[in-house]
Amino acid sequence: MAERTKYILDEADMPTRWYNVVPDLPEPPPPPLHPGTREPVGPDDLAPLFPQALIAQEVSTERYIDIPEEVLDVYRLWRPSPLFRARRLEKALGTPARIYYKYEGVSPVGSHKPNTAVPQAFYNAAEGVTRLTTETGAGQWGSALAFASAVFGLECEVWQVRASYDQKPYRKLMMETFGATVHPSPSELTESGRAILAADPGSTGSLGIAISEAVEQAAQAENTRYALGSVLNHVLLHQTIIGEEALKQFELAGDTPDVLVGCTGGGSNFGGLAFPFLREKLAGRMDPVIRAVEPAACPTLTRGKYAYDFGDTAGLTPLLKMHTLGHDFIPDPIHAGGLRYHGMSPLISHIYELGLIDAVAIGQEDCFAAGVRFARTEGIIPAPEPTHALAACIQEALRCKETGEEKVILTALCGHAHLDLPAYGAYLAGDISDHALPDEVLEKSLAGLP
Ligand SMILES: *Cc1c(COP(=O)(O)O)cnc(C)c1O
Repeated sequence: MAERTKYILDEADMPTRWYNVVPDLPEPPPPPLHPGTREPVGPDDLAPLFPQALIAQEVSTERYIDIPEEVLDVYRLWRPSPLFRARRLEKALGTPARIYYKYEGVSPVGSHKPNTAVPQAFYNAAEGVTRLTTETGAGQWGSALAFASAVFGLECEVWQVRASYDQKPYRKLMMETFGATVHPSPSELTESGRAILAADPGSTGSLGIAISEAVEQAAQAENTRYALGSVLNHVLLHQTIIGEEALKQFELAGDTPDVLVGCTGGGSNFGGLAFPFLREKLAGRMDPVIRAVEPAACPTLTRGKYAYDFGDTAGLTPLLKMHTLGHDFIPDPIHAGGLRYHGMSPLISHIYELGLIDAVAIGQEDCFAAGVRFARTEGIIPAPEPTHALAACIQEALRCKETGEEKVILTALCGHAHLDLPAYGAYLAGDISDHALPDEVLEKSLAGLP
């Protein structure tokens, strides 16, 4: 019989619940604090920014949360997503390891982001919100929210980091095609933007600045709420459909992962794949090593501090206990725009502190080499972000080659690079290099922690 390449679930077998890892952890994560009082934030503090349903999910201690039928209906446009066995990559590496990847590039915008954009738009619309604001870097999140807003009839206004707005016109066109309005950030439209421009008229922006602008707008306008594409508990919750599907697909494959790797920007695709496997690990049903992979240029888990910090540059958000490089840290302009965030999800940070996952940082040259290797064997050109996971996956597979271990590796392939091809162009032209991130730079930005 021919060897299988992909494992596809029937629509009828798509999971109908998200998994909340919090009740299964040995200790609960520390709560977010109000930036003024430094007391734990209550639902009222968050109400100007988020609808009640999402606030309830943010603090939920229920193990499972039903996915609304309206959301399942939109998910069915591309879900369940395929799990592939990377046989050609295994062969090219000459490894005895078995490599699997869960591919989220089949979504309408080419990444995992719609898994949370769709429920966020749904809950906002259900509570009478008419307009959403958000930030975006390279544009993956902005295009996902623009798509979801179109589905549920919401206006969508996006502040896009200036550098990407200028360099990556296609994502902006995608957002506009879905009906969103896109502003370069910093902008003259908000107090936070004007303050940055006054100090530095040529500012190319950062995610932290763009978040300040979007939050400020949502807090001030009627019927407007803010949506965040990563970091928060409810976002990671929505992404767990990835891991729940993958568990079912591993049953089809008759295999069990020994190592799980995913790239981490704010932690949502990694948490989404890993948490259902972490549940199985904590219950003693499997024992995979779970590894987060971050860029050497923005190493929040491996070199950041575990401390309360703001989610944005202006200090408008609640204080989150997380691995952080400092809220005004501006990373090198590496091509993996989705991994250039100063903080890490509080849940992932907490789980890392508990010793339940490990983390490595990899420079972008090695990552693009892995991306090209993957493209030439498996035929999918990975987005610059998941090339980090692939680089770690290849490292593990090559270790297996040395030791002869037949490990089973599962990697999160969270998006394709069809709108990021200039990054591959730069790599192929030899224009990509790694810059060291000196300790002094980190010390300086960490000195600004609240
Ligand atoms: C946004 C994004 C990331 C980083 O965000 P996480 O929340 O860490 O997943 C990674 N990969 C892709 C393709 C993205 O769009």
